[in-house]
Amino acid sequence: MTNLIHLQKQVSDYDKKFNWDKDRGSHIALHMSEELGEISRRILRFEGYKTEEFDKKELAEELTDLLYLTLKLANKFEINLDSELEDMWKRYEKKTSRK
Ligand SMILES: [Mg+2]
Repeated sequence: MTNLIHLQKQVSDYDKKFNWDKDRGSHIALHMSEELGEISRRILRFEGYKTEEFDKKELAEELTDLLYLTLKLANKFEINLDSELEDMWKRYEKKTSRK
């Protein structure tokens, strides 16, 4: 059991305060790509591929930036992530491999 709807409401209230609830879905998706790049960069640092110092707190912040945008995009399309997550687990429980 999850409570993502509470988080979605928090994001919705926050976005409305700044009039950001009108942001285009394509822009939100673009920002998600940007955050994923930032996450990837932190992991490349962790794995030593990038020589910059790895900072776990930075990785955590980038992950939560992506979570915020995921919740925001779900709000944009009126998707209830609680029920979608339940459906996802039903799909995943039937999986026998990573296909
Ligand atoms: Mg970020």
